[in-house]
Amino acid sequence: MPQPMESVACNLCGSVDLRPAYSQPDELFHPEEWFTVVECKSCGLGFVNPRPIREGMNRYYPSEFYQTFVETDHSQRYAEEAAYLADIVDSPRALLDVGCANGDFPRYMRDKGWLVEGVEIGVSARGIDDFPVYRCELTQLESGEKRYDAITAWAVFEHVHDPMAYFKKVGQLLKGGGRFVFLVTDFQSLPSRNLFREDLPRHLYFFTEDTVRGYLETAGLHLAKVDRHNRIFSMRPVNWLRYYFYRKCLGRDLNWHDLPETPRDYFKRVGNSGLTAKIAYVATHPFALLDRLLLPFFELLAPRSLTGGIVTYVATKQND
Ligand SMILES: [Zn+2]
Repeated sequence: MPQPMESVACNLCGSVDLRPAYSQPDELFHPEEWFTVVECKSCGLGFVNPRPIREGMNRYYPSEFYQTFVETDHSQRYAEEAAYLADIVDSPRALLDVGCANGDFPRYMRDKGWLVEGVEIGVSARGIDDFPVYRCELTQLESGEKRYDAITAWAVFEHVHDPMAYFKKVGQLLKGGGRFVFLVTDFQSLPSRNLFREDLPRHLYFFTEDTVRGYLETAGLHLAKVDRHNRIFSMRPVNWLRYYFYRKCLGRDLNWHDLPETPRDYFKRVGNSGLTAKIAYVATHPFALLDRLLLPFFELLAPRSLTGGIVTYVATKQND
């Protein structure tokens, strides 16, 4: 059963002056349910509105959601993430990883000498018994004596119902001089805003560099670095050529139904993914093939702010 929905004001500035950006279904699990992303006219924050209430989100996170994560080797990714903390050498060093999933990133950091803890509300953290994990929302942690040298959140803040409370809690839990490193998608990029690459309604918030600055300021944090690259997660501008074709020739943005059938959906529909099916896909979707073939050149030539759908932010807390 679809869950009760709620309409919300802008989480950053409180405005209710919003404009629709785009609509799309829950592609992964409930293709019959559609969601609309709106943009705050006042500060530029993007968010799903109306949205399922927090208590109704389990429906959108079935166990299959966590399965693909477990089956993949992420060691290269953890090395990229760890590089953001490599210059913190004081001992002991305490790390809190928000949204730690099955705990592999905290373990990777523990092997580098960190004291690690995690926060995870999903079922993926069920088996962790070798370091402390808080099985609740970050906002439910006590802000008493406990302080961390670093807090990380890899692709987490776009999933939460109240990012403002999360940013503020990070500000309270960090030591003076501590570091907050987090990765989110970029609402100003082509893949996030125009190419339907966001995972709705699991992604609820879509940040820009300006809105991140606004959040960090409110939380008493200072933005130190902005990195755009695909080495940790990627969200490539697939269908970019189609987008420009529609803009230039038809004078409008793409909508969901303008997207070509993906190879995955095509193979599923024809019940075959062998060489013949692959040739048939290419023959029947020449424009999609051209789009993919030219994608590396587009990524090379267009500005990163447009093509790079993923941003890693590094923020610091002033010394106490
Ligand atoms: Zn706003």
